[in-house]
Amino acid sequence: ENGSLKFRRVLLKLSGEGLLGKQQYGLDPDTVDRIASEIKIVHDMGAEVCMVIGGGNIFRGVKGASQGMERATADYMGMLATIMNALAVQNALERHGVQTRVQSAIPMSSVCEPYIRRRAVRHMEKGRVVIFAAGTGNPFFTTDTAAALRAVEMGCDALLKGTQVDGVYTADPKTHPDAVRYDSLTYMDVLAKDLRVMDASAISLARENDIPVIVFSLQNPGAFADVVCAKGTFTIIS
Ligand code: UDP
Repeated sequence: ENGSLKFRRVLLKLSGEGLLGKQQYGLDPDTVDRIASEIKIVHDMGAEVCMVIGGGNIFRGVKGASQGMERATADYMGMLATIMNALAVQNALERHGVQTRVQSAIPMSSVCEPYIRRRAVRHMEKGRVVIFAAGTGNPFFTTDTAAALRAVEMGCDALLKGTQVDGVYTADPKTHPDAVRYDSLTYMDVLAKDLRVMDASAISLARENDIPVIVFSLQNPGAFADVVCAKGTFTIIS
């Protein structure tokens, strides 16, 4: 079964919104559980999986700052939100029998491991799913940039961005029914056309290190398993 894997070691980036389900705020347990079961399938196929999860479902730094909070402080709160999401996904994965470790860029030693690159690689080699929490650990960054950074550090074959839509479109497909999905794009296309896939620093980091970025829908059951075999519907940026 291992033979059908196109990408053997992958980083899955999930935005906080991906955990909302039908809720306006926080975590929807059914959604978290469904995502965990999708990850289990890919894990059982023999892929090495690590993850970065956003925090926008709980706290967004820019929003806090726009309400009068100092940006750096608001960003730290955003990073703490990603730790909560990481623990929730860890819990769901372990309920499905998948071994996991959470590593935080902001050390929180009684809750999870600190981020140690070589240790994270070792966990993956042992078949554990590693969830990277607290983004890059620095304010003024995003979890997209954290995802690109960790994907590079882990030597991943691809950075997979699981979203609500099955790729990158010429316009927002929710508001523009005639929008067309790109099958593939170059990094420069994304930067030059200012396509809102991931922020520019994330795309630049992926480009400099030759890691393809694949945008796909985590809403479609089995899509994650398809994507690691380079099957199904997605947009590949390379
Ligand atoms: N954040 C940060 N540094 C990082 C990653 C995240 O300061 O390296 C903060 C930032 O305030 C951001 C929040 O954490 O708004 C949540 O992350 P993000 O908005 O990227 O989450 P997503 O949109 O993917 O849910």
